[in-house]
Amino acid sequence: MNVIVIGAGPTGLATAMLLAGHGHHITVLERDPDGPSSTGLEAWQSWERPGVSQFRLPHVMMPRALALLRQELPEVVAELETAGARRHNMIAGTWDLPALGGRLPEDHRYETMAARRPVLEFALATIAARTPGITIRRGQTIARLITGRSPLPGVPHITGVETRNGEVLHADLIVDASGRNSQIPKILAELGPIRDTEERAAAGFIYYARHYRDNGNGLPEATHWPLTHQETITAGTLPGDNGTWSLILVASSRDHDLRALRDASAWDRAIELFPEYAHWARHGEPLTDVQVMSAGQTRRRDLVADGLPVVTGLLALGDAWATTNTTFGLGLSMGLTQGALLRDAIDAQDHIKLSLAFAQALETTAAPYYRALRDWDAHRLAEIDSNISGEQYETTDPAWQIIRALDAAKLSHPDLVRAYAQVGSMLEPAEQVLARPGLIDLIMTLGAEASRYPTPGLFRRELLTAIG
Ligand SMILES: Cc1cc2nc3c(=O)[nH]c(=O)nc-3n(C[C@H](O)[C@H](O)[C@H](O)COP(=O)(O)OP(=O)(O)OC[C@H]3O[C@@H](n4cnc5c(N)ncnc54)[C@H](O)[C@@H]3O)c2cc1C
Repeated sequence: MNVIVIGAGPTGLATAMLLAGHGHHITVLERDPDGPSSTGLEAWQSWERPGVSQFRLPHVMMPRALALLRQELPEVVAELETAGARRHNMIAGTWDLPALGGRLPEDHRYETMAARRPVLEFALATIAARTPGITIRRGQTIARLITGRSPLPGVPHITGVETRNGEVLHADLIVDASGRNSQIPKILAELGPIRDTEERAAAGFIYYARHYRDNGNGLPEATHWPLTHQETITAGTLPGDNGTWSLILVASSRDHDLRALRDASAWDRAIELFPEYAHWARHGEPLTDVQVMSAGQTRRRDLVADGLPVVTGLLALGDAWATTNTTFGLGLSMGLTQGALLRDAIDAQDHIKLSLAFAQALETTAAPYYRALRDWDAHRLAEIDSNISGEQYETTDPAWQIIRALDAAKLSHPDLVRAYAQVGSMLEPAEQVLARPGLIDLIMTLGAEASRYPTPGLFRRELLTAIG
């Protein structure tokens, strides 16, 4: 099959390699003109990627993505290693905690490779560029979709694309991997009325992040779980490549009082309030100022509704299909997983069957994570609003009560930390993990003993005082 992939981000590149590995011919069309530099470090320093606003923001690749790369695209893993990516176990910080009883043999499944996003993308782009069957053309913006005879009356069938330069390219299948701000739905709507399937959360989160580098003290040690939710703010640590690491603070985008975190000295004072992470900031020297980005707003655009495609010849994956709260770092894993799902579905007999098979694969494999994080966001934003006004957030939703209890109790029992890690690493959806006999009872019992916020209101007051 001849396939056009729109977008040379991680999803587009990985999908192209997975499809090319099965004999398909792929043309990747990317809006940004610059290709990767010759090393990962140069990619961090000078690769211009205006099409990806989060390009230099901290990224963690979750274990599912690494497992997939190891199995399907091992050359990418080797390239990452050469570029200075570092092996890192997501739960390494918990092995020394007395209640958890140390490392288990099966903990290797929580391993990932830590690299900054430009370095990750450098490795994917380098290997994709030398994969037979793939042509990557940069500086090509898709401006229009070309239609042909439709197999479904009233439903547009896409047979090609037109670039902003007026070049027309045809293919058997068009894949939209053009990211969270994909213009393809808008371009599609220009062809005529099309069913609106978009689901979008009303609010989201805002990121305040800093990168650091080793200045001779070595790397900071992980001594805790990598993410902590406080009353109205979340903090997290992310190891990186070549002696770098980063720290994030994440707030509700409605929380204007925390906008002071844009200021580096306010940010430094805020991170000091997290004893489990403050040493990460003191350990090295800052590599960046505070980077700020609105993120974490969930959005999903299906191309099948009520059992029928709303368009044929076009599929969307990665961030172009759905985004999830970026604090949990699932975007890369979601995109790569969906590339593999498409590779497995693409041999369907016709376009209608392909659209339906791919939608079904998304629904069973990726949508459970999307839904879990969408619901988490809604509760967390409501909880933050309540905490700002000094009230206790109450809900009758049992799912939130379980998640809240698991979050509070995860460091008190070896089974709980691993249940949390399995879902968080995108290795198993929450429904499956929680179905294990006795697990919910254990979570609720230990969660009742572990208070989520030991002194309600105190952290918020300290935070506002610290950031001035
Ligand atoms: C603040 C923030 C932090 C994040 N942290 C993490 C993390 O820790 N871990 C994680 O796994 N994920 C994280 N993500 C998500 C992650 O960045 C994405 O999931 C990941 O980039 C995969 O996206 P993609 O390849 O689908 O799209 P993108 O990376 O956005 O790539 C899309 C590409 O399409 C191109 N394009 C767009 N329009 C057109 C067009 N019309 N024609 C041609 N080309 C076009 C763009 O230039 C771009 O290169 C984070 C996101 C944000 C915003």
